[in-house]
Amino acid sequence: MGIGRIAALLVALVAVPTSAAPSGYTLIPGSFPSGRQPDGNSIVIDAPAGLIVVDTGRHPQHREKILAYAKSRGRPIAAIVNSHWHLDHTGGNAALRRAFPRADVYASRAVEGALTGFLARSRKDAEAFLASGRASPQQAAEMRGDFATMDDRAALMPTVPVVRSQRRRVAGRLLHVNLARHAATEGDVWLYDSEARAVVAGDLVVAAVPFLDTACPDGWRKALGDIARTPFTTLFPGHGAPMTHGQFDLWRRAFDNLLDCSASARADDDCKAGWMRDAAPFVAAEDTGRVEGLLDYYLKTRLRSPAGRREYCAG
Ligand SMILES: [Zn+2]
Repeated sequence: MGIGRIAALLVALVAVPTSAAPSGYTLIPGSFPSGRQPDGNSIVIDAPAGLIVVDTGRHPQHREKILAYAKSRGRPIAAIVNSHWHLDHTGGNAALRRAFPRADVYASRAVEGALTGFLARSRKDAEAFLASGRASPQQAAEMRGDFATMDDRAALMPTVPVVRSQRRRVAGRLLHVNLARHAATEGDVWLYDSEARAVVAGDLVVAAVPFLDTACPDGWRKALGDIARTPFTTLFPGHGAPMTHGQFDLWRRAFDNLLDCSASARADDDCKAGWMRDAAPFVAAEDTGRVEGLLDYYLKTRLRSPAGRREYCAG
């Protein structure tokens, strides 16, 4: 046995076991290289009427992978599910809908408010940054891609709005289509498939660090409790590798601890260190600095700002 194979074996032995994808499920992984905006994971589910694609990425390269996969399978995309309206999960909608005009689109109606609220505000900032001439060519291309996504409003709108949790057939496959209100966004859609014992969580689970930019932290905590009560064996997060139920429980505890710490008198650095310790299995070494930076930002603007903590909550 060569050194390389021994090393590979050792890595296999010490790596945190991740559950294999259940049959009929294919993960097209997102990415978050430093200096770039992320793509969320896309999960493709086999269904009687064709393929169900959950989330469509942000960058053209990501949506091309989805289209190439459908082509390789020789099956149509029969349904698109958007877990939420963030552009790293919806940017490919227009291209996929152009290629498969008959595809149903399942999403919450939260995108309507986002287009005139959060997205309109962040677009103004992006336009000012572009006008300043300080954007790199890559940043400029990303921003123009995001503007194009926002301009094609129709492509972001659901054909089947998800307004409550219910068991229903999507492209002929029976799924629990759940709506979590006021969690990572005003309306997060997550799926539970009792036959495959799989959960597709969208950004209700983001392995490295919860993205709290448009979140109601307390509603999010409640949604994680609902997910925990389903007897899944594999959970697909919005970003990061699939998790077992045990790994999800660990991640959820890290999330709860972060919220509890932020509501206590403990120092920001304590809360940050708590997350880095509790969520260590989910944070790659090269992401440490970036994750700590995001935690700093979220503690200040959302978790420990009374207005920020409630901004995206009901009422
Ligand atoms: Zn995301």
